[in-house]
Amino acid sequence: QCSFYCPVGAITENSCVREVHNILKNKDGRIVVFQTAPATRVAISEEFGMEPGTISTGKLAAALRELGADAVFDTNFTADLTILEEGSELLDRVANKGVLPMFTSCCPAWINMVEKLYPELIPNLSSARSPQGMMGSLIKRYWAQKMGVDPKKIVSVSVMPCTAKKDEITRPQLTLDDGTPETDFVLTTRELGKLIKLNNIPFASLKEIPHDDPLGESTGAADIFANTGGVMEAALRTAYEIGTGSPLPTMHFTPVRGFDSMKEAHIDFNGIDFKVAVVHGAANIHKYIEKMKKGEVSHHFVEFMVCKGGCIGGGGEPKSISADYLLKRMNGIYKIDDTKEMKKSHVNPSIQRLYKFFLEKPLSHKSHKLLHTHYKDRSTNFNK
Ligand code: SF4
Repeated sequence: QCSFYCPVGAITENSCVREVHNILKNKDGRIVVFQTAPATRVAISEEFGMEPGTISTGKLAAALRELGADAVFDTNFTADLTILEEGSELLDRVANKGVLPMFTSCCPAWINMVEKLYPELIPNLSSARSPQGMMGSLIKRYWAQKMGVDPKKIVSVSVMPCTAKKDEITRPQLTLDDGTPETDFVLTTRELGKLIKLNNIPFASLKEIPHDDPLGESTGAADIFANTGGVMEAALRTAYEIGTGSPLPTMHFTPVRGFDSMKEAHIDFNGIDFKVAVVHGAANIHKYIEKMKKGEVSHHFVEFMVCKGGCIGGGGEPKSISADYLLKRMNGIYKIDDTKEMKKSHVNPSIQRLYKFFLEKPLSHKSHKLLHTHYKDRSTNFNK
């Protein structure tokens, strides 16, 4: 079992390196499929002596292929999908007087915090799964069906910046109908570094390759999920354009960028003064919730990430002694967005095809079954 987790990395993660290594060496008819999270494509470079902030997206995909992966999909694809589902949910709540503020739901440490400490806030959480949760579902349900493969033969491995993602895959809500997990293993960025070194793969000199279709294409909006404020900025790029019919006045929504513990912004949204906030770091989240309960802060939409800086500072990322490594990682991520032609999740052609030929539309019955989840009050168990 490699489900032991600590969102801040104070406890060493229970490593899956040996198990994944053994499966890759002896597949025995199994199909091994990987997904790589937005933050990992920059941080993995540090495992191989490169400067923090170095972008290694294509080398990451190439290293996984060298290790023996049968397909390498991109969690960025489902980050774009998250924006379509979460953004549509937000628009629906605003239009139909649903529960507000709506809270983002991609950080599993934040979800644990709500279920265990603030269960009264469960209705505020978006029901959209995290990008890892969406990809796990699509690999064993959509991709398996498309390829004519028995989902039981698939070993689905995530590469994540995050130790809390190891816990997320054990959630009973994220299983197939027969109860088997949708995602089998989570390797942190550090663990993947170990696995690549164990196999003597010359990471730094690998030729860059793209992720695999049909779950590999993504926009710059997906890349910035790695940074605090990124989910908010990506959601606004899409929700604003769909909700108002006009593009967001600026593609770089700077008020939600940077390392301030709480960032606020407001924007005119069809005559509504739409207020958003971004909070990162566990202590800051507790402070925000207490202020919200006292009526000292009020927003329509709030992004919460438990790690400082967001996922670039996750507990599974490389350890660094460089003073400004988080800033460098953050800048590396924004650089990917800057160089991508597509910057809005809803223009991703692979996402459009998935809706056209499979999911139908955001928030459809099928989308709800595959891409959404529910939460449980776990406060009693926690307090025992
Ligand atoms: Fe994991 Fe990112 Fe949340 Fe940290 S902020 S616990 S890395 S999802």
